[in-house]
Amino acid sequence: MRPRTSLFAVTNEAQTIDYRGLLEAERASLESQLTELGFATQTSTGLSYDSNFADSSQVTAERGETEALVGELRSALGEVEHALAKVDGGTYGKCEKCGQPIAPARLEAKPAVRTCIACANARR
Ligand SMILES: [Zn+2]
Repeated sequence: MRPRTSLFAVTNEAQTIDYRGLLEAERASLESQLTELGFATQTSTGLSYDSNFADSSQVTAERGETEALVGELRSALGEVEHALAKVDGGTYGKCEKCGQPIAPARLEAKPAVRTCIACANARR
């Protein structure tokens, strides 16, 4: 965990990039993927198959894979919602572990990321 010498520059740069736009685009993409799989994104609890999906015996074998995929999409969606809440709260772009600014390149690659690279590596 090397201290950054250019904290100020990184912070300023982070503010010029439209992370809210990136996050909203990602949220829209995740929601459309969930919709394509037959899941409503409005319900916050549990998984609900639509009737076509549930009644087709052909897809039963694929259901496990789909459930795993839907779980990933839902979890990614939750991360994006969390990040958007941080944009609203003015804490977006700060590591949730150490409070240091997250490198803009990392945020651009993964807008919903919660921690800086140093903390992410330390967790492994
Ligand atoms: Zn950190």
